Amino acid sequence: MFSFALGLALLAGSQNPYGPLEGLRILKPADTQNYPSTPAPTGATILFDGKSTDAFKHRDGKTPIGWKVTEDGFLEVTGGKGGDIVTKEKFSEPLHLHVEFRVPYMPKASGQGRGNSGVYLQGRYEVQVLDSYGLDSKDNDCGGIYGVAKPLENACKAPTVWQAYDIFFTPPAFKDGKKESEGVITVKQNGVVIHDKQKITKDNTTSGLGGNPAEGGPILLQDHGNPVQYRNIWIVKKSNASAKVSDAGIPKEGPRYDAPQTGNGQNAFNLDLTDLDADGNPRKILRERVMPREEPLLGRFRDRFRRR
Ligand code: MG
Repeated sequence: MFSFALGLALLAGSQNPYGPLEGLRILKPADTQNYPSTPAPTGATILFDGKSTDAFKHRDGKTPIGWKVTEDGFLEVTGGKGGDIVTKEKFSEPLHLHVEFRVPYMPKASGQGRGNSGVYLQGRYEVQVLDSYGLDSKDNDCGGIYGVAKPLENACKAPTVWQAYDIFFTPPAFKDGKKESEGVITVKQNGVVIHDKQKITKDNTTSGLGGNPAEGGPILLQDHGNPVQYRNIWIVKKSNASAKVSDAGIPKEGPRYDAPQTGNGQNAFNLDLTDLDADGNPRKILRERVMPREEPLLGRFRDRFRRR
């Protein structure tokens, strides 16, 4: 009986998408360290603080939000049943969006089926969320602006490890219905600039809300069927007097991002790199085996029909 129970426990453990990274080749120790959480500046619009999903609604505006808030206060996609969620507020001005996320470890999945979600500006322009750890990133990989631009470099941490996007977005400008300037986006992933004043050359990326690009839109978080988790989501709008956002979308003042400070004043990336799980226990990292990162033919075939 005991061995049966143990077997069940082991089975359950092996299915935990936020469990040990068994079989994954870790490129450098920092990749397994959570990126430090950045508190919202005073006056920011709080979209998710670990407690309430009140800032969001279902994409269709009617169905209740199917995403769950975990015991740890994380907002988790519920495997295709929850649907995309959008903020109730629509945004039409330059802004700084801060989003913390982590992707599940899905070694048996591949390509676009591995930890897929996404953050859409104005519901139209997707900054991809995906497990693209260790890959030569394309525009549909994590950090890519889907269908527009690949990230300048792959700044991804390993799956299950907390990451952050700081997205500085200036919407396209229109006059008399004619576009006068493209939208512009700068993105930092874990403090690394992965897009630098990138022009958005499309009016809607795959699976976005579409609509009139001259009008504002919500922040959309994508349900792509994988249990991606989010925490600590906030926005500073240009009109917010307490935190300045320049016309180019780069804050002139505000919290530091490049070198997050810890309690002892050291750069967190120079510390002894011990990753902790949600309970504060050291995360088990196995480095002996290398997980194949090539996409199997079947996976590529399947992904062709679920690209987004
Ligand atoms: Mg996506």
